Amino acid sequence: MENAATRLAEVRANIAKVCKPARRAPADVTLIAVSKTQDAATILPLIHAGQRVFGENRVQEAESKWPALREAYPDIELHLIGQLQSNKAEEAVALFDVIHSLDRPSLLTALAKAMDKAGRRVPCFVQVNIGDEAQKGGCPIAELPAFIAAVRAADVPLAGLMCIPPADTEAAPFFALLAKLAADHGLTGLSMGMSGDYETAVMLGATHIRVGTALFGQRG
Ligand SMILES: *Cc1c(COP(=O)(O)O)cnc(C)c1O
Repeated sequence: MENAATRLAEVRANIAKVCKPARRAPADVTLIAVSKTQDAATILPLIHAGQRVFGENRVQEAESKWPALREAYPDIELHLIGQLQSNKAEEAVALFDVIHSLDRPSLLTALAKAMDKAGRRVPCFVQVNIGDEAQKGGCPIAELPAFIAAVRAADVPLAGLMCIPPADTEAAPFFALLAKLAADHGLTGLSMGMSGDYETAVMLGATHIRVGTALFGQRG
């Protein structure tokens, strides 16, 4: 029987294994345990196994379960990895330590305003629509230079770039493209890689990987 501790050890070992040929330090890769749809009873064993960085994709769901957990474990770091509506910016700024889904000027305005009001600057990754998919969130590649300039001008801390590659295709070329775009803009943070491809992402420079299924099992 696999449990949270053994799955976490496995994922950490896999990260270390690919860090070696990539000449990277495992400590430079932040493992975000994606706990969306998981309840506190499922999350706790992972916390007990030492995991402290978690990711959620919905503000409301995160609000319902994390304040209590964080009271018990104040060193937990919470990342918002899902799309964010501008009218939820204040809640997001209050609750999350990092936001991975900054992808449009209207949201930038809302987040900057929320950060001013809260007196708290939350680092944000700019999400890039790396596969140029019509239905997907993310800043179009063509608009990225102007958007990055706008983020910098708004004094919103820029953590790096984030992407979700198109489903059912080889992710590596998209990870490589995101790494190149980040380098072009002098950014070092790269949020890329999920359960199916985090090792590839680490090989290609990911600094933040977002792993759910490999840690928690299939979502119900
Ligand atoms: C759910 C989700 C993940 C984790 O996916 P798994 O395949 O379960 O590891 C990563 N990133 C985002 C944006 C997600 O919504």
